[in-house]
Amino acid sequence: MSRYWSDVVKGLTPYVPGEQPKLANLVKLNTNENPYGPSPRALEAIRAATDDSLKLYPDPNAERLKRAIADCHGVETCNVFVGNGSDEVLAHVFLGLLKHARPILFPDITYSFYPVYCGLYQVPYETVPLLADFSIRVADYTRPPGAQAGGIIFPNPNAPTGRQLPLADIEALLQANPDCVVVIDEAYVDFGGDSAIPLTTRYPNLLVVQTLSKSRSLAGLRVGFAVGHDDLIEALERVKNSFNSYPLDRLAIAGAVAAIEDREYFARTCRAVIATREKLVADLENLGYEVIPSAANFVFARHPRHDAEKSALALRQRSIIVRHFKLPRIAQYLRITVGTDEQCAALIAALKDILGP
Ligand code: PMP
Repeated sequence: MSRYWSDVVKGLTPYVPGEQPKLANLVKLNTNENPYGPSPRALEAIRAATDDSLKLYPDPNAERLKRAIADCHGVETCNVFVGNGSDEVLAHVFLGLLKHARPILFPDITYSFYPVYCGLYQVPYETVPLLADFSIRVADYTRPPGAQAGGIIFPNPNAPTGRQLPLADIEALLQANPDCVVVIDEAYVDFGGDSAIPLTTRYPNLLVVQTLSKSRSLAGLRVGFAVGHDDLIEALERVKNSFNSYPLDRLAIAGAVAAIEDREYFARTCRAVIATREKLVADLENLGYEVIPSAANFVFARHPRHDAEKSALALRQRSIIVRHFKLPRIAQYLRITVGTDEQCAALIAALKDILGP
């Protein structure tokens, strides 16, 4: 704390990302990265873009990337917003679309960056408890006419539970809340979930946010995007152009375009993650774990007889890191990223050892 700090900074409780240790031979299953690496075509495009043109600013509108995303999802470029990771896109969403007099709503167990953005931009919010099985009940987000929420946001599949809400429920939520923006954060949707992007042409209050960090394995490049009605996109452009004209650099634009266009690599690596997830779930259940059904590239699991924090610590001593949240309702769960088959086999072997006979 310093007397030079603004009152806003004094009041902030920043987000804490999962750690990125620099140890060799680590089985790193704590931050939902994709073990297969980016498309070779994306890497080649980044190499090809590494030339004298870096002396020039990039395209402030990243038109090429918007075109690639629009073509991939069957929308127009005016329906696409791009940013420096979906975290930046989400930050602009909170300021540009969710900051109103009435509180916004999100689940009590969800992506822990949401309350942080509320703190930064002073957005009032209320949390809505997930049901006991960690599912979202749409009726819990519906307020009487005249008292609708200032906005609604949650990830689908949710994080850190991995549980998916069916599209029919999202549509019911949109119909019940026509006066506020509904933001669906689809960071993990490509691992077997159903995207709400097709609904954006029918619901002008729906914004869908995605990232290239997970299914395109480009967490290090920092590219995220939003799809929605042009009026929603214009709000985000106004915030972005009042904040940073060039959030995506030349290398990020080149790599992201190639990654989006390499549909075959994308489909193959997503399939591999899903197949490994199914095996991981079965192996964990064999060890006595209760696993929440996951449509993401991670699983959320609890053992009825073994403390989660102690297990996470014991795994760490064996150079395997998973994520544990010391938070109400979920302190007995481990969130385990789906790695390669070998990494998951190492995890299961270590857990066998830790749990004992
Ligand atoms: N949304 C959710 C639900 C996430 O878990 C993450 C990853 N931490 C993000 C958004 C942000 O991802 P990125 O900024 O890498 O696009």
